[in-house]
Amino acid sequence: MRSYKIALIKGDGIGPEIVEEAVKVLDAVSFAEGFELKYEELLLGGAAVDATGDPAPKETLEGVKQADAVLFGAIGGQKWDNLPREKRPESGLLKLRKEMEVFANLRPVTVYDELVNASTLKPEVIRGVDLMVVRELIGGIYFGEPKGNDGQKAFNTMVYTKPEIERIAKVAFEIAMKRSKRVCSVDKANVLDVSQLWRDTVEEVAKAYPEVTLTHMYVDNAAMQLVRDPKQFDVILTGNIFGDILSDEASMLSGSIGLLPSASVGEKYGLYEPIHGSAPDIAGQGIANPIATIASAAMMLRFALKEDAAAERIERAIKQALSEGYRTQDLSAFDAKEVCSTSEIGSIIANYASK
Ligand code: NAD
Repeated sequence: MRSYKIALIKGDGIGPEIVEEAVKVLDAVSFAEGFELKYEELLLGGAAVDATGDPAPKETLEGVKQADAVLFGAIGGQKWDNLPREKRPESGLLKLRKEMEVFANLRPVTVYDELVNASTLKPEVIRGVDLMVVRELIGGIYFGEPKGNDGQKAFNTMVYTKPEIERIAKVAFEIAMKRSKRVCSVDKANVLDVSQLWRDTVEEVAKAYPEVTLTHMYVDNAAMQLVRDPKQFDVILTGNIFGDILSDEASMLSGSIGLLPSASVGEKYGLYEPIHGSAPDIAGQGIANPIATIASAAMMLRFALKEDAAAERIERAIKQALSEGYRTQDLSAFDAKEVCSTSEIGSIIANYASK
């Protein structure tokens, strides 16, 4: 029997509640598809600070490398906000990402038909949106040297090497091959030298993917096009800072932060997590929406374990639950037939996914 080891990092706030529901669904689909998942729980963030004094304990940084994939909830909360920066939960997550060398951040944005009214954009603009932002995560201006601030002058350096661009471009083209075979590379090549290298390199990588149609777009235009006509996009490939902004913009197309999954992947490891935080304001009340985490588990099955059929079961089950009107409280204003708790919607999705 195929067997995989999954590291579970529940984290803080709603983290434990939503990860529990994703495990429920994973158990249902692994049983249905005939493979086995073995879980190991690891500590990160505030929970790790409380238990060990360190937001990213050594056992966690080593433990994730023993696993086939990592499923992560969320970290953070007021309780730890006054600690020195290196002791805060957020530092733990940055350390984990760096340790795992996850250079590609993947954010799919799917607008569910049943929830077109949840978006701030007009239904006709967003109905049918299905795109993926592929963002370079560990290079570019956020990490470039030199950088400095002497109180009178401050600067950062936007730098990309050809190998860094090649590896992220390959990820985007591989993903496009499994989708509708279109990549739009976003840059600022009319102004920035680094973007010219980006564009030239992406063109070179594209030669290995003749079936994929490559287009280029300036980032200012892309920001505008994303709200004007988001359906024109399939895979958006971009660097760290542009991707940071565009992926947040794109995520709001769907209308709810509780729906959107993400993956951060590298050559060896992958971290799968909802895009939202630990939502301390609703933690412990059983009202958090677990769908983003459940959809992240589907991404994990597809990208890390190559269990595509199991991933499809989950994605189908989420759609079915929404189309039958089951909603958590955050979406209760949008055509809800029944408002469910975190655990109830998890069970409904697990049940549909097992069929
Ligand atoms: P947040 O995403 O946690 O919450 C923003 C709002 O969205 C809140 O009103 C919350 O109740 C709601 N929300 C979020 N997820 C939801 C869900 N699944 N279902 C229903 N409603 C949901 O962002 P924030 O309030 O700015 O941050 C709270 C904490 O989370 C902070 O400590 C922050 O540092 C941390 N954070 C962690 C991550 C991460 O772990 N990757 C990401 C962002 C923020």
